Amino acid sequence: MISVSEAIQIVKDQTRALESELVELSQALGRYLAEDVVADSDLPPFDRSQMDGYAVRAADTSTTPAKLRIAGESAAGRGWHHEVKTGEAVRIMTGAPVPVGADSVQQVELTRELDSGSEVEILESVTLGRSIVKRGSEIKKSQTVLRAGERINAGAVAVLASFGYANVKVGRLPRVAILATGSELVKVDQQPGQDQIRDSNNFSNSAYAALAGATIERLPLAGDDIAQLKRQIEGAAERSDIIVTSGGVSVGRYDFTKTVLKDLGAEIFFERVALRPGKPAVFARLPNGTLVFGLPGNPVSVSVTFNLFARVAILKMQGSAETELEAGTAVLSKNIKPAKDRESYLPARLSTNENAQLIAEPLKWGGSSDFVGFVRATALIIVPSGTHKIDAGRLVEFVHLPQ
Ligand code: AMP
Ligand code: MG
Repeated sequence: MISVSEAIQIVKDQTRALESELVELSQALGRYLAEDVVADSDLPPFDRSQMDGYAVRAADTSTTPAKLRIAGESAAGRGWHHEVKTGEAVRIMTGAPVPVGADSVQQVELTRELDSGSEVEILESVTLGRSIVKRGSEIKKSQTVLRAGERINAGAVAVLASFGYANVKVGRLPRVAILATGSELVKVDQQPGQDQIRDSNNFSNSAYAALAGATIERLPLAGDDIAQLKRQIEGAAERSDIIVTSGGVSVGRYDFTKTVLKDLGAEIFFERVALRPGKPAVFARLPNGTLVFGLPGNPVSVSVTFNLFARVAILKMQGSAETELEAGTAVLSKNIKPAKDRESYLPARLSTNENAQLIAEPLKWGGSSDFVGFVRATALIIVPSGTHKIDAGRLVEFVHLPQ
């Protein structure tokens, strides 16, 4: 059986980034850059005042109060484009260009304009360069400021706007079809009859796919029926980059997902992973190129395997440089006794204690079907196989669970 890290590597190796597309900046939040972003100007583009006050020559303020003649006014968007001479000051606003000749700005609170309006007293000496952000001191023209593969967050949107990216090249969003299989399933708006349960995986998989950025199609529920499954998977493949199924991948008599994938000529990359929960996870590719993740049916197994494997493919298709769940270490708050035979991913809740330590609290849960207990999980504690006990107070590794 392959390890979790081997399985993740296989998903990365078998997934290609989709083509890029141009989107308007207002639509770019959360997308992945398909181009490097280059500054088309210095930032700031001119020597800029950081304060409301007076642009002066610092040497003129060495003895205070220093009385200076107000030669003009430089406002944001409407600068004063003459030279400031010795004995002169220019009234200046935040964001306005500092005129030539001036080498410092004294903030208005440390000045007093005389009644005439033509003179100002500088009440405190100003140090050379004070409150001026020099042209290009933040960014130089032609500098690369963001890289292809980065996620466009709110801050990146501002950067793109600043450098004129009215349209930005991003990776196309994968179309992900979600299919829940099992003859016991009924839809959310139905009352389960005898031996039936409501489907929840369709919704959790759709939610996790949405968090990863996918465009989602929820397929009608499929029973444990080879012909029906085949029809649904074949149909969905024509319009999807990825199909994520749940259920029917174990060794039960009515577990048909793998049979159907093989009948459809899929290449199976793995069908068992040394993982708890989620051992029977399947990863395959149909002849037309659509990737298939056949996840187990238990709701917690679904959440774990979706985020470990399917999410990697969804992010890689969008061109993300980072495709794995964000990892970290935390202090364990309670003893745990994991199963020894496989690597375990145990639901946990992260918090910070009074000593500013990150704490991982393993959740009390009833196993891979306990999706109510799983709701509070914000992370999964990773326990290597062969570990039979970890004591409270020890450091453990975890991955963040997308929320
Ligand atoms: P399976 O992997 O098909 O053997 O299913 C394992 C367990 O998960 C069974 O108890 C199923 O009833 C349950 N299960 C399967 N699919 C779903 C679903 N879509 N929603 C909720 N539970 C499910
Ligand atoms: Mg089933």
